[in-house]
Amino acid sequence: MLDVVVVGAGPNGLTAAVELARRGFSTAVFEARGTVGGGARTEELTLPGFRHDPCSAAHPLAVNSPAFRALPLERYGLEWLHPELPMAHPFPDGTAAVLARSVAETAASFGARDAGAYRRLVQPFLPHWDTLARDFMSLPLTALPRDPVTLARFGLAGLPPSTWLSRRFRDERARTLFAGLVAHVMAPLGGFATGAVGLVFCLAAHARGWPLARGGSQSISDALAAYLKDLGGAVHTDYEVKRLDDLPPARAYVFDTSPTALARIAGLGRYYDSYRYGPGVFKIDYALDGPVPWTAEEARTAGTVQIGADTKEIGNALRAASREGRAPERPFLITVQPTVVDPTRAPEGKHVFWAYGHVPAGWDGDLTDAIERQLERFAPGFRDRVLARATAGPAQLAVRNANYVGGDIATGAVSGLQILLRPKLTLFPYHTPHPAVFICSSATPPGPGVHGMSGHNAAKAVWRRLRQT
Ligand SMILES: Cc1cc2nc3c(=O)[nH]c(=O)nc-3n(C[C@H](O)[C@H](O)[C@H](O)COP(=O)(O)OP(=O)(O)OC[C@H]3O[C@@H](n4cnc5c(N)ncnc54)[C@H](O)[C@@H]3O)c2cc1C
Repeated sequence: MLDVVVVGAGPNGLTAAVELARRGFSTAVFEARGTVGGGARTEELTLPGFRHDPCSAAHPLAVNSPAFRALPLERYGLEWLHPELPMAHPFPDGTAAVLARSVAETAASFGARDAGAYRRLVQPFLPHWDTLARDFMSLPLTALPRDPVTLARFGLAGLPPSTWLSRRFRDERARTLFAGLVAHVMAPLGGFATGAVGLVFCLAAHARGWPLARGGSQSISDALAAYLKDLGGAVHTDYEVKRLDDLPPARAYVFDTSPTALARIAGLGRYYDSYRYGPGVFKIDYALDGPVPWTAEEARTAGTVQIGADTKEIGNALRAASREGRAPERPFLITVQPTVVDPTRAPEGKHVFWAYGHVPAGWDGDLTDAIERQLERFAPGFRDRVLARATAGPAQLAVRNANYVGGDIATGAVSGLQILLRPKLTLFPYHTPHPAVFICSSATPPGPGVHGMSGHNAAKAVWRRLRQT
């Protein structure tokens, strides 16, 4: 009998498996797809030699993750590449606000009236960032906070809606960049704890940047899987789990799946019926003949570029997709340009480019034209550089990865109390009613993103249980 079986080889499933194998438990992972990675993979989606990330591409959460930082992933080929600027947010007038490594450079890009307010917002947290990240990402209650004072202070700033936090700024530049950060997790701008979302992305940029993995996000997953194998763990691919009986006998089963799938597979009935899923996304991966011709100079050297003219436009786009059941006319876009730092991703002189916008859950239309109209506003001539494109709407995303229910890449709405307390209102989110079954996907705290912290926290819950028995 194995000690632990993990279902799903996404960043959280692999991290849970590694953490348990490191502690001497015999561990095996079962993954539905032909390769490991889940939302951290790389594929030639368009033309030969163009290596695209169909899901995650920029990694502020991974490089700042206390779980990943404690693992020797560099020894297994993971190398972080830092673009000159972590992120740029261009405006229609050809200028841009930026999220730079330096607080001063970021503050200066907001203009004289908001520079001081930004410094006062982030500076108190930066010296405590490593402890704060650990405390914040371990919530709730898998560990006592190491620095409760800073965590409480962070809660005071971050628990109110982001729109409150943005009132510290007088001009639209800082407010717009901040609204864009909140939109990364598809949270409504006026929602509970959305201030914390924006704040985490800013602090992460100043502490360790928003890097990309050399060769693509697959390198993160491959490094985790290679380390797991060295620890004696096994990885089985092309193995979709439909029932618990499909798995070998084990003392614990850890699911890197949606709560709905887990309930179905483990026979948990209606236990997760109140869990809500959020809107979907429409993703395009481009092969380009040259770099994106951004009007704003800053955008040309940034790893990530947010597209949304102002807070109103971003708010409208989020509302259309999440509340009004329609695709936005002017979608808010997150774009990533891996080839500004990683020439291995495309043939010489060519580029890969990554963009997505939000759409309603299960939406079956084509957002390509709306996305490219937005890009042309900030990078005139963009369309002329397109050699090939691969598109994926909610249905395709859900087929490629069962965790993206209705195209929801966060595996559960990041709104209301569910932003912090997921997948249930409980102090033990990684446990289920079945004593041997656990959940570790991004449907658990701290939520979506490639950081492995859900896997790390769930592994703790598992080894405590296994040691008791
Ligand atoms: C388009 C897109 C862009 C994104 N951009 C970013 C970004 O830039 N930065 C970032 O940090 N995050 C980003 N994310 C989010 C990030 O990818 C996810 O939050 C993260 O991958 C979640 O990790 P996970 O391990 O919980 O689940 P997943 O990565 O989704 O992995 C789950 C795995 O379980 C497998 N599985 C599911 N059901 C079964 C079953 N029944 N049997 C066997 N295997 C099963 C799946 O095939 C999958 O491999 C993005 C996601 C998408 C889709």
